[in-house]
Amino acid sequence: MKLNRSHIIFFEKHLRFLVQILFALLCIWIGWEFIQFVRYFESGASVHFHERPPGVDGFLPISSLMNLIYFCKAGSIHPIHPAGFFIFIAIILISFLFGKSFCSWFCFAGLLSEKLGDMGERVFKRKFYLPKFLDLILRSLKYFLLAFFLFYILPMSANALKAFLDGHYNMIADIKMYYFFANISTTAVVVITLLMFLSIPFRGFWCRYLCPYGALLGMVGLLSLFKIVRNQKSCIKCGLCTKVCPSQIKVDRVAPFVLSDECTFCLKCVDLCPVQQTLEVRPFCGKGLALSKRVVALAVIMLFTGVTAFGMLSGHWQNRITKEEYMVIYQLKDTLKHH
Ligand code: SF4
Ligand code: SF4
Repeated sequence: MKLNRSHIIFFEKHLRFLVQILFALLCIWIGWEFIQFVRYFESGASVHFHERPPGVDGFLPISSLMNLIYFCKAGSIHPIHPAGFFIFIAIILISFLFGKSFCSWFCFAGLLSEKLGDMGERVFKRKFYLPKFLDLILRSLKYFLLAFFLFYILPMSANALKAFLDGHYNMIADIKMYYFFANISTTAVVVITLLMFLSIPFRGFWCRYLCPYGALLGMVGLLSLFKIVRNQKSCIKCGLCTKVCPSQIKVDRVAPFVLSDECTFCLKCVDLCPVQQTLEVRPFCGKGLALSKRVVALAVIMLFTGVTAFGMLSGHWQNRITKEEYMVIYQLKDTLKHH
């Protein structure tokens, strides 16, 4: 099949969705591999042993954050869940370049939330917003949650961090997380369902108000090198960019660039702007080359795969827990408590 211009436009339009789907498939594959790994312990070693997929560490953001702080204080990577350390570094680096782009290009919850929001707009034929004061109060919730974690983790000494990371609770935090979903409680089902329903009229309810990971990336993103820059001279003030922005940013009024902890670098505004060279991805100084959507996609993918590949090649990817150790800790799993 020969590629023509319409194919390229279609590809460009759906590029972010394609990346989101690929990442979602990667997460599903990791989840499937992990279930096989857990089966071995569930069966009391009576089925074939399946290697643990290290990528599951990416679902342990608190452990990864603690590993990063441990690295800053002790100068070494803790060997329990080391892949999470590299995945976390990759996501932070992406945020230093392209703001909270992890949320709109990779995150599985972000994808689900976006599609629920799209569904809401199709059903109700309009967008719903919470009153400004309520929106502001709720938006601060994710920062309180983040501050709560940082308040406990940041002052910890390297020894205290090591003690936590070495602990049985952290060692099988991934298995505990798996059972949280596999044996999900009624309360958790009610809360998750409620959040999903709220995300239909109120786009991105979880991400905008409650996700502490997004809060951290949003703060880092304020310092990002690249921004959505508006050329005030050529802008015709049509307002299309503001209308399409899922993060409720008044893009048509920014001068000269979007500076918001809520901008996820989805580039919907850039895609829709009808005037050439008016809304572009540029270094925050406004000078320098404008990056196309393709280049942004390539950069975020390369950064993510580059950092994780470095983790693999440097021998810091697989954790050091043997299957015999896993078996012993697995038997204790219901008695383990986080201290
Ligand atoms: S539409 Fe533009 S300003 Fe709004 S979140 Fe997406 S990239 Fe950021
Ligand atoms: S879509 Fe482009 S031209 Fe229209 S208001 Fe936004 S920046 Fe200006």
